[in-house]
Amino acid sequence: MRLLRQGVAARRQQDPGPGGPYAVRHDHRRAARPGRRGRRLRQRRHRLHGRGGRRRYRSRRREGRGGRRVKAARFHEFGGADKLVVEDVPVPSPEPDQVVVRIAASALNHLDVDIREGVSRFPFELPHTPGIELVGEITEKGSAVGDEWRVGDRVMPYLLATCGSCRYCRTGRESLCLTPVFAGGGYAEYTAVLARQLVRLPEGLDDVDAAATQIAFATAWHMMFTRGKLQAGETVMINSVGSGVGSAAVQLAEYAGAFVIGNASTEEKLDRAKGLGMHEGIDYTKEDVPERVRELTGGMGADMVIEYVGGDSFQFGLDSLAKDGRMVTCGAHAREVVDFDVIPFFRQQHTVIGSFVFNRDEVEKVLDLAGRGLIRPAVHKTFPLDEAREAMETMESRAHFGKLVLVP
Ligand SMILES: [Zn+2]
Repeated sequence: MRLLRQGVAARRQQDPGPGGPYAVRHDHRRAARPGRRGRRLRQRRHRLHGRGGRRRYRSRRREGRGGRRVKAARFHEFGGADKLVVEDVPVPSPEPDQVVVRIAASALNHLDVDIREGVSRFPFELPHTPGIELVGEITEKGSAVGDEWRVGDRVMPYLLATCGSCRYCRTGRESLCLTPVFAGGGYAEYTAVLARQLVRLPEGLDDVDAAATQIAFATAWHMMFTRGKLQAGETVMINSVGSGVGSAAVQLAEYAGAFVIGNASTEEKLDRAKGLGMHEGIDYTKEDVPERVRELTGGMGADMVIEYVGGDSFQFGLDSLAKDGRMVTCGAHAREVVDFDVIPFFRQQHTVIGSFVFNRDEVEKVLDLAGRGLIRPAVHKTFPLDEAREAMETMESRAHFGKLVLVP
């Protein structure tokens, strides 16, 4: 599987597409050439990082803060969990448009594993401190950060460092930004983030729950409501309800008034999901999923399938759809290239919808719901920063239900 992923990644590197997640690398290359587009990018980088652009930005970050050192778990080369080491690093200093955050909790995601293995298809420089989902407190502000943010504010950065100026950013569709960057830095005691990425935490939500909320719930929200347009009274089937996104999707679908069917590999995971609002569960290791979905829906099938597993799940998801049903997909860890039976797809007028991360206002919505206690992030276990490697190994074992969270 990994070989396949690397093969696909290698092809992508030879032929980066015109947009999407590859735009970062693509634009840097173009920026090196003369021309209007390159000049515009240099001007933007100049605005972001001051004279000298990215080079100065990096060197200033290395200098740190008066020699004070803090802990970060990072890797110097791509590979297995053993590449992750906890090291002393300088406290980051903020650029004019950044704040420094003392991290209180940082959730793990499967993307962290892909990034560490070097198969994420996103460009990263080494050494890299993973961690894309953190919460904490502002300890220092850059000179250009306004009064809307104060030292001591409890915040989380929105997942992507977006440009803030492309047509998608300007219309609240940051998940489509032309030059998005996964900043990382969460497996640490401190990190620096762009002030315009910040989202304020509601008072009723503690740090660990907040860290476990953003990616799982906002991803599920984006898939079901923004992309899939789920309606009350519809039937939704959620693949692998034991995952962070799965357990979030169960709660949001139930909250929205849908009939919720979920599948998982163990009775224990199905029981946990029932506790979160799932109405019917299917053990996909023992039962035929499409057949069981039809039994549960009077022969009709599901109006919507939430899928992010890939491999066999993609096909049994499609086979579980009612006529005119739609399947929303946002991942493929089990297998990225799948067979696709075209005949039932067009005869039953199915739709497959792609979904990528989420927008900023969706994060604010799910944080608000979590702060009011209307949704509950499933946290499997917390780990101290020194055990970041064990936390990653637990994530890779897939034996957990819900999120794993580092507490530096
Ligand atoms: Zn943008």
